[in-house]
Amino acid sequence: MNSILQHDLNNFENILEKTKQQGVDFLNNIENIPTSNTYSIDPKTVLNELGLGSIEALKEFNERLAPLIVSSPGPRYWGFVTGGSTPASIVGDWLASVYDQNTQAVKAQGGASALIEFETINLLLQLLELPDSFLGGFVTGATMSNFTALGVARQWFGKQFEKDFAKNGISVPINILTATPHSSSVKCLSLLGIGSQNYTVVKTIEGNREALDIADLEEKIKTLNGKPFILISSAGTVNSADFDDFEAIAALKGKYNFWWHIDAAFGGFAAVSEKYKHYVKGWEGADSITIDCHKWLNVPYESAFYLVKRDHINLQIETFQNSNAPYLGNPLENFNYLNVVPENSRRLRALPVWFSLKAYGKEGFRDIIEDSTALALHFGNALIENDFELLAPIRLNNVCFTLKGEHNQEKVSQFLSALNDTGKVFMTPTVYQGKKGIRASFVNWRTTENDVKLVIEEMREVLSEL
Ligand SMILES: *Cc1c(COP(=O)(O)O)cnc(C)c1O
Repeated sequence: MNSILQHDLNNFENILEKTKQQGVDFLNNIENIPTSNTYSIDPKTVLNELGLGSIEALKEFNERLAPLIVSSPGPRYWGFVTGGSTPASIVGDWLASVYDQNTQAVKAQGGASALIEFETINLLLQLLELPDSFLGGFVTGATMSNFTALGVARQWFGKQFEKDFAKNGISVPINILTATPHSSSVKCLSLLGIGSQNYTVVKTIEGNREALDIADLEEKIKTLNGKPFILISSAGTVNSADFDDFEAIAALKGKYNFWWHIDAAFGGFAAVSEKYKHYVKGWEGADSITIDCHKWLNVPYESAFYLVKRDHINLQIETFQNSNAPYLGNPLENFNYLNVVPENSRRLRALPVWFSLKAYGKEGFRDIIEDSTALALHFGNALIENDFELLAPIRLNNVCFTLKGEHNQEKVSQFLSALNDTGKVFMTPTVYQGKKGIRASFVNWRTTENDVKLVIEEMREVLSEL
């Protein structure tokens, strides 16, 4: 064994101890760490001939790279839809690295860590009150979850014409209908060979809505003259957290032949609260659902899962199977994740979620969801009192707003840059119904009313200096 490796091996406990202490220092100080910074590096460094060993590498990391780190898992990082990581999720994440299992088959000679993934998906179905007619698995994010689900949808579409698109490529143009798809779904259409421009836009409901208009959807369906299609619907659009009417879509399933996909990356968590579960009423009728865990479930990146109806397992295997060997008998009997997801080798990605769900239970997540939404409303009210206006109603956890008055439209970007440069808070620019706006998303378990107060003070100050 190389002598530096041998030295590290002998010193393992000390190395991990130092690393743990560094983690504790970061997490205990997270409120004071800026949400943005101007520090930069020249991302080139000479690969040394002789290794430094872990402790020296840690020193170099701390000198050169650690200053790049911002407080994105902290309580005032409201950009995009970004969660943090709870203590239990970090336990699971650390152990996933320590155990370093390749999570593939449920009946494997070398280990059956896929059983942990099965159990975790089952816990998630309970959390979200979804039936076990869904099978699921972990992927790196909602983008890959959309990719997985839409990949199966593509195969389903081919089967309606007795074609095997996975084997022979797409030979019939695929009909996609959607109203306000997330950019990642559009990217998936590109990846899947469908084409990122090849979808039909369904109108949204009149007024301040991003949800699809059911009457227009039915009209667009009728123009297809009975041809099958794939519907990409939304449970939580990023700007206004709007939801399509799932009960109405479920009713259409009885009349027309289509694959129904729901992108519920963060909005799916509405299901855990009595106050908000009406938003997802009827969603169990979907063929596939996308949900992110590294957002509202507050586990570290990279964690999301897909759900696809059990009945479609053969289509999923046809799409993602790693060998051309035909399945004999029941495909669930020798279930292997490498035949149903894009990746072959995968870490024990379910573990952070398993620990989180066990540690905090249904109530813990209900509280996170309801606290986030209460803070969003609180922030919205404070905005209205302070020279800002809401661009969209606050339905859940996202607040989409702008500077008050048409004449201030040109100042929005300048205001947001100045605000983000304070390092006290981070928000994202957006355009909503033709207006320049700003989006603040409440997802982090650490955020409190005091953070909202602090941010409002900061915003007033930046505004007064504009
Ligand atoms: C964040 C998000 C995505 C993409 O998720 P990643 O985890 O970044 O891949 C897709 N859809 C919606 C609605 C989202 O909010």
